[in-house]
Amino acid sequence: MVQTREYKNSGERISLLGFGGIRLPSVAEGSQEIDKKKLGEMVDYAISRGVNYFDSAYNYHGGTSESCIGEALSGHPRHKFNIATKMPSLGYLKSESDLDHIFNEQLKRWRVDFFDFYLLHNVNRGTLPVFDEYHVYDFLKEKQRQGLIRHLGFSFHDGPALLQEITGRHNFDFAQIQLNYLDWELQDVKTQYKILKEKQIPITVMEPVRGGMLATLCRESVEILKNVNPMASTASWALRYAASFPEVLTVLSGMSNMMQLKDNVATFEYFKPLTREELKTIKKAKTIYRGLLKIPCTSCRYCIACPKDIDIPAVFASYNSYSLSGNEKKIGKENFLFRYEILSPGKRADSCIRCNQCTHHCPQHIDVPYWMNIINEFYKRAVL
Ligand code: SF4
Ligand code: SF4
Repeated sequence: MVQTREYKNSGERISLLGFGGIRLPSVAEGSQEIDKKKLGEMVDYAISRGVNYFDSAYNYHGGTSESCIGEALSGHPRHKFNIATKMPSLGYLKSESDLDHIFNEQLKRWRVDFFDFYLLHNVNRGTLPVFDEYHVYDFLKEKQRQGLIRHLGFSFHDGPALLQEITGRHNFDFAQIQLNYLDWELQDVKTQYKILKEKQIPITVMEPVRGGMLATLCRESVEILKNVNPMASTASWALRYAASFPEVLTVLSGMSNMMQLKDNVATFEYFKPLTREELKTIKKAKTIYRGLLKIPCTSCRYCIACPKDIDIPAVFASYNSYSLSGNEKKIGKENFLFRYEILSPGKRADSCIRCNQCTHHCPQHIDVPYWMNIINEFYKRAVL
């Protein structure tokens, strides 16, 4: 069974592996439509191995993630699982009455009458004014008083200053941050962790594998990890990194197939915190990878409301496949062209009108139009 951690000395035990609902199995490569049969099998297996934390959000998989996981969980006793879901902001809240509407719809989607963990979704400098304008925290506190939410928290995509501010302003039961070995320094998650630790706010971890990036890395980095432990998957290093921090309650993994789930379950059944030597190994692999990675996109698809319908994460993935090939430029260019030309013409970088709508939604603060221009120029040269 996967190992568990205790929520705030309460006796409540949460599985160290959390089931993330952002990248569920799909009916076809690149499709957002969820394969319910596969998902059902994965949920059954996860529960049989002691996974008891299931996380999703109102907008994942075009709004179908919650109901599909809810359906898959409906055959299991309620005490076997915890549900974590989130209240959206930008693009979803137009008035205070939307809050009740969304919250009630979520209860129906999940087929439950209360939530175990509930979060303000994606708190950052862009979304905070929306949460404030519609008094979202007060609304959710009231739901908590009514017994409809057990623990109230927030997911966070900004810097330490805002984290200090929001945790000083409101009384949260937990916080969800993007803790992984790349962002520890890249996005100063180190300071975020310190702030939450000092305030004794339990941490749930999102993107421990950074949207799958740290499961694949680049050839040289993978070799470094394999030389030390040939049996361990690349993803398991990243999951163990996140879980090695004692204040972490659960590590969410967005799993798309049974193989990934079984690998992750094995990691957390036999979990041991990373040793000093293993941390040095990760540092070596990370330094090489960071030098090659151009665009830190996690494929979260928060930016997908592009008016030109550009497949932004797929465009970025194609360019990263080139940069991560390092000195093997010819192979890198082939990788890029293969991935880029699969996209239908309207979904490519040249359709960008630089409207900047995507940048407001991007939790990684990527200058999307800038990169669209770079990638379009690169493509033109690559096909010459
Ligand atoms: S800036 Fe470009 S990629 Fe971003 S939303 Fe506008 S058209 Fe789409
Ligand atoms: S560009 Fe930003 S918002 Fe869009 S998928 Fe990548 S990380 Fe997510």
